[in-house]
Amino acid sequence: MKTARASLDRPLVTDAHANPELRDRVRAEAENRPGVYRMWSADDRLLYVGKSVRVRTRLLSYFRAPKGEKPGELIRETAQIDWDYVPDEFGALVHEMRLIQRHRPKYNVQHKRKRAYAFVKVTREPAPRILPASTVVDDGSTYFGPFPKVGRIAHTIRDLAHALGLRDCPASTSVFFDDQLDAFSGLAAFDRPPGCIRADLGTCLAPCSGRPSARDYRERVRIGTRFLEGRGDRLLEELRTRMAEAAQRRDFEYAALVRDRIERLRRFQEELTAFRGQVEALTFVYRVPGHEGRDRIHLVRSGRLRATLAHPKSARARRTAAERIEAVFGEFEPGPAGLSAREAAEIFLIARWFRLRPDELRRTRPPGEWLDAKRPA
Ligand code: SF4
Repeated sequence: MKTARASLDRPLVTDAHANPELRDRVRAEAENRPGVYRMWSADDRLLYVGKSVRVRTRLLSYFRAPKGEKPGELIRETAQIDWDYVPDEFGALVHEMRLIQRHRPKYNVQHKRKRAYAFVKVTREPAPRILPASTVVDDGSTYFGPFPKVGRIAHTIRDLAHALGLRDCPASTSVFFDDQLDAFSGLAAFDRPPGCIRADLGTCLAPCSGRPSARDYRERVRIGTRFLEGRGDRLLEELRTRMAEAAQRRDFEYAALVRDRIERLRRFQEELTAFRGQVEALTFVYRVPGHEGRDRIHLVRSGRLRATLAHPKSARARRTAAERIEAVFGEFEPGPAGLSAREAAEIFLIARWFRLRPDELRRTRPPGEWLDAKRPA
């Protein structure tokens, strides 16, 4: 990727029209090619990241922007401009978004807003919890998602925790198991009363009072994790059994409560599976026309851009590309969990690109098909 730079070693300009040197340098050095550009302040703060299919024209337009409007204000604060030529619009879009998310420039609005994605978090604690989360942090927890709306999943996650008997009390609650002594008080487990009513309602195994064994609690977490991975119906089967038993003893109120819970969890699992399928479908080699016939291939796996290569024209280049494709698509990935918020944003960006441009999908090929067609004999 070629990087060019136009800069001025002089104080911040106060009037775009009084900055002819920077403008002249852009005019002399920038080409009308697709690219991503960055505008820097005199004290080296990144003010703005933008993209254009015609970098030179776009940059020069800032110098004509009237005072009082955002582009005019921006160019008044700009002391340096640099840019990368990115041969195609898709590559430029992803590159721009990554830069904005990394640097959070003052004048960018799009991609900088913290969009409220929702994740389901299985904590890494002696007695793990399953909780809704709006951000992913590196705390050892396992995250599932992203989901577009936080509010909608909170209720379902509560259902899930209650159905599994997992706790949802604060992390500070001390927990221990029936084969342990309380590490804090040294009392036997059964000496401590439960910390909340969920133990009496039967919706929590109550590790706060040492009721379950560590093994039983872990097994409930495992069932929940499999449910979130879209594997295994055990949880829903258990709930159906509970509902039937309640109906048999004519406890229709409880049976109706369990029925509604089953329905919410079933719908949630369907959504999970559908969403995962949509993300997995965004796995392909995407060929795009590049500047002056220099086509590119983007390697998109599970909705994220993993690498971009020049479209190979010689047998040797095809061999190199094949090796890269095998490496990118063959590498082990630990399933649907473990996405960061930035990665989630990229999935939504790429999904949107193809949703708005369905014709572009015709340029994509599954990696195996690409390899079969292009691999040198
Ligand atoms: S019963 Fe105990 S472990 Fe369960 S949620 Fe309440 S306080 Fe937490």
